[in-house]
Amino acid sequence: MKTRRLFFALWPPDSVRQSIIKASKPSMHKLKGRIIKPDRLHITLHFIGPVNDDVRQCMHEAALTVSGKSFDLKLDYLGQFFRARILWLGARVIPVELSELHKDLGQALSACGYQCDRRPFSPHITLMRKCIKPVKHQPEISIPWRIEKFVLVESVQDETGVSYQVLEKYSLK
Ligand code: ATP
Ligand code: MG
Repeated sequence: MKTRRLFFALWPPDSVRQSIIKASKPSMHKLKGRIIKPDRLHITLHFIGPVNDDVRQCMHEAALTVSGKSFDLKLDYLGQFFRARILWLGARVIPVELSELHKDLGQALSACGYQCDRRPFSPHITLMRKCIKPVKHQPEISIPWRIEKFVLVESVQDETGVSYQVLEKYSLK
């Protein structure tokens, strides 16, 4: 049976994508690495991996049962995962609605065989990969993002690399 590589994510509107690029460009130019294209910027809520259509349907129905609240996220911190060689943009303050959404979605998905990552949730937008140099100066960044939905995304691999396709949207109250 065919499988799709899936993940649940927060998906910024174009205006937020543009703000992210503009604000992080000066820092990124000083670092070596692979810059992530604007249309691929996102926050992963839960990475599912390859699943068949039955599991996908189960997860879709599970996601529909999640009743999260809309919230504001302020993107204001440039961080790095040194071992993974990732430069990311995140938030100093994680709204309780985001933590709850992550927890509730993970619990709902467990009915479909999903096992939540044991590591604590650290929401971030990957900006650069293969980034080894440390960021020397924390830039002044403050990007407001009103989050009113989460999405189910398919990560499609072809000859040109990976592309993301939003399969479903789930609105928050
Ligand atoms: P590539 O792996 O080719 O660099 P990608 O990481 O953007 O591309 P995917 O591997 O499909 O594409 O990952 C989709 C999203 O899920 C990304 O945000 C990625 O960081 C995250 N992700 C991938 N694998 C895992 C994993 N094992 N655990 C947690 N998150 C993951
Ligand atoms: Mg990957």
